[in-house]
Amino acid sequence: MTRRVGILGGTFDPIHTGHLDLAAAAERALDLTAVLLIPAHVPPHRPLPEASSFHRFAMAALAVNGRPGWRVSDMELLASTRSFTSATLDRLHGEGHHPDELYFVIGADAFSDIASWKDYPHILEKARFTVVARPGHTLAAIRSSLPALAPRMTSADDRHAARGSIFLIDAATTDVSATAIRQRLGRGEDVQGLVPPPVRQHIAQHGLYVSMARTGEAEIVPNPPAAGRLHGQG
Ligand code: ATP
Repeated sequence: MTRRVGILGGTFDPIHTGHLDLAAAAERALDLTAVLLIPAHVPPHRPLPEASSFHRFAMAALAVNGRPGWRVSDMELLASTRSFTSATLDRLHGEGHHPDELYFVIGADAFSDIASWKDYPHILEKARFTVVARPGHTLAAIRSSLPALAPRMTSADDRHAARGSIFLIDAATTDVSATAIRQRLGRGEDVQGLVPPPVRQHIAQHGLYVSMARTGEAEIVPNPPAAGRLHGQG
């Protein structure tokens, strides 16, 4: 059986239902044999994630539980510098993955910036880029905003697509962002349905994303902001 590995990178601060919908849509449309989530290392000079690398990894690991073939990779988190996607794909090639078996799954919002990525346009040959619509970011908008790439765009069932083709998948994903989740939690609101139940429990149990500015928070949060403090990020 041919390996077909979906790769989903992100800050995952925290991982949410939209991320899982995105990867699941690619898994279905492309018949993926594996899905690899790669949380990003964010270096000190960039806006820091609110949760530490440890918590972001832990939440991603909880989110893939029970999904056969899905794994979380620590390869970018273990690096001391920011890992560009191009270098991550090179590394996967070095580990024995052929570019044609790697499907780099990305939301339409993030893909619209592809021309600014390191190693563009060569990066498009390093994996099969797979763009999934995101609420508010349609595939039609991608086609018209990236006219130079439009001829390479094809559907997920094009099994003879040449190297450098870009697969487009029009699937419905939950209309949510990690920013919106952090804001809700900061206001003390529930995020049920927006993150998988074990992730929601992890967030509550560790007091993640709780705004210290909220009155009385110190008394009601048993482990005040573990997020970000464990790793010298606080
Ligand atoms: P933030 O709000 O912190 O910027 P985010 O929710 O956009 O975070 P990221 O970790 O930046 O999440 O995104 C990782 C990948 O997941 C990107 O390719 C992004 O386009 C995609 N993605 C995130 N949320 C959704 C969603 N609701 N539907 C489809 N794709 C999504």
